[in-house]
Amino acid sequence: MPETGNQISHAVIAGAGIGGLTAALALAKKGLTVTILEKSDPVRTDGAGIQLSPNASHVLHALGLADALAAVACTPDAVIVRNGASAKEIARIPLGETISARHGAPYLTVHRADLQSVLIDAVGNESAITLRLGAELSGYEETEAGVTVTASASTGGIREQADILIAADGLWSNTRGFLGDESPPRFTNFRAWRALVPIERLPHPFSSNTINAWLGPSAHFIHYPVSDGKAVNLVAVLPAVKGERGWNMEHDTAPLKENYRDWPGLDEAFAAVDQWRSWSIFDRSPGGDWGRGRVTLLGDAAHPMVPFLAQGGAMAIEDAAILADAVSHEPTGPAAALKDYEGRRRPRASRVQWTATRNGMTFHLAPPLSTARDVVLSRMSAERLLAGFDWLYSWRADQS
Ligand SMILES: Cc1cc2nc3c(=O)[nH]c(=O)nc-3n(C[C@H](O)[C@H](O)[C@H](O)COP(=O)(O)OP(=O)(O)OC[C@H]3O[C@@H](n4cnc5c(N)ncnc54)[C@H](O)[C@@H]3O)c2cc1C
Repeated sequence: MPETGNQISHAVIAGAGIGGLTAALALAKKGLTVTILEKSDPVRTDGAGIQLSPNASHVLHALGLADALAAVACTPDAVIVRNGASAKEIARIPLGETISARHGAPYLTVHRADLQSVLIDAVGNESAITLRLGAELSGYEETEAGVTVTASASTGGIREQADILIAADGLWSNTRGFLGDESPPRFTNFRAWRALVPIERLPHPFSSNTINAWLGPSAHFIHYPVSDGKAVNLVAVLPAVKGERGWNMEHDTAPLKENYRDWPGLDEAFAAVDQWRSWSIFDRSPGGDWGRGRVTLLGDAAHPMVPFLAQGGAMAIEDAAILADAVSHEPTGPAAALKDYEGRRRPRASRVQWTATRNGMTFHLAPPLSTARDVVLSRMSAERLLAGFDWLYSWRADQS
């Protein structure tokens, strides 16, 4: 049985996504026992690529995952920004050795399923963590002594006593509602389409070891290698009128193909795709409490953002590191520890949310503003481009 009162020795985490799994590993490293409740069985591994910038890979390396990640991830040489109408390179931000040396951790691209497998394997090797699949958090009750978490499962109801409850239950978090915020996430009027293509089917530049961002009015297109260089993740973002829940939607691809018809070269990439899947892009404005007492939100549940800075997963990973630090250092009890975590995370997560939204505006400019953007970007030195991301990528858990 866990200790009660001011002790924090046992945590329940709702959600075995990237945030929940990383938080479990980080808390276990600080000596806690952890139960993860995940409503899916098996854990859902659909989805496509994720970029792990040095701020995120640093946390994962500190958890001992460097070798496992290196086996499945790619280390791209650069981010190349292109004008969609001409395919011309506007700017090149060096990654590879340059960014590793600058920030002490690599910039990786990885298939979401591979990242989740690395985390699930690590959780499986950690005796302090119990992962319960097919267990959906349905409520909780807080007392002075702890928090009693209830979940439904095919094997019957689950009741578990814990010192803290961490809700890493994603964009559509139920726990957010239990905490009093019933408002749904905000549809951003964008839909993302993704496809994974074996690398040998694609010509240059789609097959190169680089992240490419093609920018155009109201739309952009990203591609980068994943799965140890065996596949390329293609993501197209374009306006949409209706948003719907789900990461794996099948839709008529006619609007997608029509939108990019005049972008030179993209037809070659599109021709190699067997199957497009899409998801509507939702976010929330920064603001509002993340938790109360012994309960707090983490990752997308706390701060969902548009993917235009590639930081949704990274922020969930950062949250995990700071949560574990706050819990292990706060002597006055669970509520104070969780407030400390929220206080240390909120300003940064909010800044990243705003920056991601602003990035979308810059990506999607139309002429003549896009011409001005391209001129400014093309005149910036590699050093200046890199310096613009220092605030983001140089983040370290022990300095936050
Ligand atoms: C299926 C899926 C596919 C995705 N695909 C992409 C992609 O292709 N590209 C991209 O950039 N991002 C994708 N994302 C989002 C990205 O993974 C997240 O933005 C980011 O990693 C934040 O992670 P998170 O752990 O906060 O939330 P999530 O990764 O959303 O994880 C939340 C977890 O909580 C579980 N859960 C929800 N409610 C409950 C409950 N009541 N009880 C127990 N468990 C619950 C969910 O099943 C899920 O496993 C995807 C997310 C999912 C779930």
